[in-house]
Amino acid sequence: MIETGEFDFESRIVSPQVINGDDSDIDYSLRPKTLSEYIGQDKVKENMSIYIEAAKKRGEPLDHVLLYGPPGLGKTTLSNIIAHEMGVNIRVTSGPAIEKAGDLAALLTSLQAGDVLFIDEIHRLSRAIEEILYPALEDFTIDLMIGNGPAARSIRIDLPKFTLIGATTRSGQLSAPLRDRFGIIQRLELYSADDLAEIIQRSAVILGVAIDREGAYELASRSRGTPRIANRFLKRVRDYADVMGDGRITKDIAKIALDRMEVDSLGLDSLDKRMLSMIISGYNGGPVGLETLASAIGEEAVTLEDVCEPFLMQLGFLARTPRGRCATDLAYKHLGIPKTSSDDGQTSLL
Ligand code: ADP
Repeated sequence: MIETGEFDFESRIVSPQVINGDDSDIDYSLRPKTLSEYIGQDKVKENMSIYIEAAKKRGEPLDHVLLYGPPGLGKTTLSNIIAHEMGVNIRVTSGPAIEKAGDLAALLTSLQAGDVLFIDEIHRLSRAIEEILYPALEDFTIDLMIGNGPAARSIRIDLPKFTLIGATTRSGQLSAPLRDRFGIIQRLELYSADDLAEIIQRSAVILGVAIDREGAYELASRSRGTPRIANRFLKRVRDYADVMGDGRITKDIAKIALDRMEVDSLGLDSLDKRMLSMIISGYNGGPVGLETLASAIGEEAVTLEDVCEPFLMQLGFLARTPRGRCATDLAYKHLGIPKTSSDDGQTSLL
């Protein structure tokens, strides 16, 4: 378990990352298997279905794909769907899991023609591994060093033509040469409440949970635009419905349950609020640098950047300026904190 400050990040109910309470079997059953079951992300779906159809028509593997966006939005799910729609196998790994050249070579040489290799957190690949990947992506060959010292020699291995799908939460951290080798780059956006309500209703049918429309919307509007959080709420709120009602998730049950879990009407939890309150009360509304802010509230900068910021920015509560983070008027209003004249001076820099 990773302890980050006083906050237990892994059990945070609004964490978009996989946390301990997420049951992997249930999670698997909730994953859509085809593009038509994949809700929302219309632009990405439209593009991908054209690329997939064209590749199939030409009888070629799909070009390498980079999917980027905040955690929990469906990058892994979409990669599985792409492999399914192409009618090929998928091998799943992640950047930090590929430590040695031999790990990557073993993966690549086990692929069959057309297969998908999915690398999650691809920005965490080491430079040395990236260098081996370049010729594999471009010419479908790898050069491997065999042996040590003067007896060492390089051998070239031909690979079957495959498709790499890379997923990352931080496309900015990807090296330019690696990024350039992806023919298809797609950005996943946070989901609308309508899409999330549809995802919740679909999951409820699979799990055999009764939920009405208003109940689904109440969960959706607090799910931070993230399907993983929406599904987690559904599973947890079901318990409240069983104990406090007749098992049916209504708007009232959803409200009571989420209030008890300290998720507010917009989906903010105590970490979001601590972050905004610190900018407001500690730094007159900002600007304040990310690292300074993170240490002021005892949290990892990467957590604030990957988890809190995309959502707070989408709500219009946070602005990122070259000089640091600023809380907006909307944030003051939501937290019920009046703005003082010194705050005004700072935020007028926006
Ligand atoms: P990521 O790889 O981006 O972290 P995942 O692909 O693991 O996200 O998705 C998290 C969960 O959210 C999945 O288990 C799936 O059930 C659900 N999910 C994601 N995207 C969608 C979608 N478009 N429609 C329905 N469910 C989705």
